[in-house]
Amino acid sequence: MLHGMAVSTPPPAWPEGPWDVLVLGAGIHGLCTAFWLVQRGVRRIAVLDRYGPGHALGSSHGGTRITRTSYHDAKFVALAQAAHRDGWPTLERALAQPLRVRTPGVFHGPPGGPFDAYLVAATQVPDVLEPLSPTAAAARFPVLRFAAGDAVLHDHSAAVVLAARTMAALRAWLAAHGVQFGWHQGVEHLEADAHGVRAATAQGCLCAAGAVVAAGPELATLAADLAPPLTVVHQQVGYFALDAAAATLEPGAFPVWAHVAPGPAGFTYGLPALEGAGAKAAVHRTTAPAQPEHASPEPDPAELLAMARARFTVPVLGLAATERCRYTMTQDQDFRVERRPGAPLVGIAACSGHGFKFGPEIGRLAAARLLD
Ligand SMILES: Cc1cc2nc3c(=O)[nH]c(=O)nc-3n(C[C@H](O)[C@H](O)[C@H](O)COP(=O)(O)OP(=O)(O)OC[C@H]3O[C@@H](n4cnc5c(N)ncnc54)[C@H](O)[C@@H]3O)c2cc1C
Repeated sequence: MLHGMAVSTPPPAWPEGPWDVLVLGAGIHGLCTAFWLVQRGVRRIAVLDRYGPGHALGSSHGGTRITRTSYHDAKFVALAQAAHRDGWPTLERALAQPLRVRTPGVFHGPPGGPFDAYLVAATQVPDVLEPLSPTAAAARFPVLRFAAGDAVLHDHSAAVVLAARTMAALRAWLAAHGVQFGWHQGVEHLEADAHGVRAATAQGCLCAAGAVVAAGPELATLAADLAPPLTVVHQQVGYFALDAAAATLEPGAFPVWAHVAPGPAGFTYGLPALEGAGAKAAVHRTTAPAQPEHASPEPDPAELLAMARARFTVPVLGLAATERCRYTMTQDQDFRVERRPGAPLVGIAACSGHGFKFGPEIGRLAAARLLD
């Protein structure tokens, strides 16, 4: 229980408070944190975001995301397994709808490079991650290009996460459970001590018994002591029209995939075509930091088409659509969910371009760190 938290009284008039918990940021991690706070019986919750619902200026927008068990580190293999076993099923039950579409996963790369770590971590779960020969992989996934020497893992736990549906359904569920949303309410200053939290926005000051900061790069300005070094890296995504039968590009037939090779543009990934949007593909760019306040630059069609032609065996007929997005990177691409000693304040840094799939687990952990 947090100091000064009352359970029975109805939520106060907006926005004064006192609130039980303020969640700063309505990306996947903020929404999942609020979800678990409600599950834990917390009543007076306000979720504040600098922008509006579904905005495209953070990291959680867009239709789809990959979930997988195939990872370079046993820790992420275990976290993915927890998300697949508990987190996502719990969310799907509570939101009463499927949030994932099962499809094979195939991850591959040249030996002697970063993919070697995936092979080591895969030995932990041989029933989930099955080595495949490049020949067998090419026969199974003919639209994807495999090099003769590639190491390949077939991931039987993989799926497409319906990201936009998840975000909208979470917002609706939270609102239906009494959570108040403060859209276009950027928190400019945050104070927290043993007695609670005070958050200043342009609209006024909110006080609460506790808070969770899930504000991407702004964790560094709102609670620097809880933020590892963070950088923003802009991303561009393409949706490609491929010269292949539509059915071969849909979930079930077409995998979520990643080719993991050395170099700044060595990690490319993709997803099946959903609702006719074209096969999604992009480079997982982890370097080239940008200023957090700068908007993502216009996508480069030539660069996207060249990447697609390198990865697909069938003719790439064109770029059906593009998307901009950004990662908030930690230096080691690891996650942090830290609590300030002696104060009811938790900070989340869990992006680095691979955090969505872990949302239900990161949210659970953040709520537990605050409440317990
Ligand atoms: C192109 C792309 C592809 C990706 N693919 C995958 C994938 O396949 N699988 C996967 O697992 N992950 C993937 N990711 C990563 C994943 O989407 C992110 O890790 C995740 O969305 C991060 O969520 P978040 O809640 O931490 O941050 P965000 O979504 O950025 O949310 C932070 C929120 O805080 C708000 N905010 C910031 N400052 C303040 C403030 N001062 N006051 C109030 N509000 C504030 C922002 O407006 C924002 O809404 C991808 C990301 C991108 C960009």
